[in-house]
Amino acid sequence: MDYFFTEDQKSIQKLSRKIAEEKVVPVRAELDETGQFPWAIMKNCAEAGLFGVSIPEEYGGIGGGILENCIVVEELSKACLGVSVSYAASLLGTYPILLGASEEQKKKYIPQVASGKKLAAFGLTEANAGSDAQGIRTEAKKVGDEYILNGTKQWITNGGEADIYTVIAMTDKSKGGRGATAFILEKGMEGFSFGKKENKLGIRASATRELVFQDCKVPKENVIGKEGMGFILTMRTFDRTRPGIGAQAVGVAHGALDAAIQYTKEREQFERKIISFQAIQHMLADMAIQVEAARALVYSVARYIDSKPKDFSKVSAMSKVFPSDMAMKVVVDAVQVFGGYGYMKEYPVEKMMRDAKILQIYEGTNQIQRNIIALELIKEAASRRR
Ligand SMILES: Cc1cc2nc3c(=O)[nH]c(=O)nc-3n(C[C@H](O)[C@H](O)[C@H](O)COP(=O)(O)OP(=O)(O)OC[C@H]3O[C@@H](n4cnc5c(N)ncnc54)[C@H](O)[C@@H]3O)c2cc1C
Repeated sequence: MDYFFTEDQKSIQKLSRKIAEEKVVPVRAELDETGQFPWAIMKNCAEAGLFGVSIPEEYGGIGGGILENCIVVEELSKACLGVSVSYAASLLGTYPILLGASEEQKKKYIPQVASGKKLAAFGLTEANAGSDAQGIRTEAKKVGDEYILNGTKQWITNGGEADIYTVIAMTDKSKGGRGATAFILEKGMEGFSFGKKENKLGIRASATRELVFQDCKVPKENVIGKEGMGFILTMRTFDRTRPGIGAQAVGVAHGALDAAIQYTKEREQFERKIISFQAIQHMLADMAIQVEAARALVYSVARYIDSKPKDFSKVSAMSKVFPSDMAMKVVVDAVQVFGGYGYMKEYPVEKMMRDAKILQIYEGTNQIQRNIIALELIKEAASRRR
């Protein structure tokens, strides 16, 4: 399919694909085994300018949008989701700054992320507050010109590896959803440390870690926007990053499909290549249909968001749910096409199956996405009745 990319978009795709094939594929099994953070690959991405594809030119990027991010993420995800999420989480951590920070803050922090010299991360989730983000307990108390942060964030991608963290903390619990504030924290700040690194089922190359704040002093200049904007910035950020999860899903599913096709051309049973069995051909055809349908959705939602519409929560949620449910099905089918060999570590599909599951969970589970979509449908129906 030709998605009519511009010359710039084609060159971003080519560069990302080259890094994925030449740098990621040869080491992905080892990264998965050891859980080592892919610093060398992050450096390759930085040198190729990929961290700046969705950042405005005035902050050191090339001025692309959501679609450019999806193009890079899809290519990296074909090779390894652990690598692609390490790349993508940096933009997730940067979006609250892009959306709500002062000019001074943007100039200070964004160019460092756009160049890939520093990684960013986003800290919202806590042990008792996942889907119910308003249940966070990390507190930020204003004392003079500073805020004192206390609390622990859990499962933060790029935790410990990133230098720049956007963190959501409660500044006024009595205000509920309007009582959270977004802060910029830097690695090395007094009272800011990292807890345990998680030992995960998949995306093992990525770092998932606790952020611990013990009387951590944050200057008031590090508030993003105003007090009380924490959850608004969070929702506006997720609206823009969810197509990226869709792109991860399309990438890993495409990677699994490619591996499955290759295998069916080599494996013989009953003295025939297994690709000659119609049952196998139909599985491959169904996988290909689903990958293409998801890709078309991700690209069109990304383009739509880049056209700066007023409200796009519904389609943004759709661009995460459909591809991630699709990817889970496609990677399981890929393992089935491989038979017993698919269950073994010699082939990449068992890793892809372990990796893909997270796509239905993080940045809002698929149940929560369906809640968002349903709510928008109800609102639309109500406005039609008026
Ligand atoms: C590997 C990994 C990386 C992550 N990276 C980050 C990160 O960088 N930054 C960050 O802030 N967070 C991160 N997270 C957290 C992630 O976003 C949360 O795990 C996710 O939002 C779900 O929260 P939870 O795990 O607490 O599940 P819960 O909220 O406890 O949900 C449990 C189950 O109940 C369902 N459920 C809950 N509420 C409802 C409801 N109202 N309606 C229907 N079903 C419901 C859920 O869908 C799910 O099936 C990461 C998590 C993981 C595992």
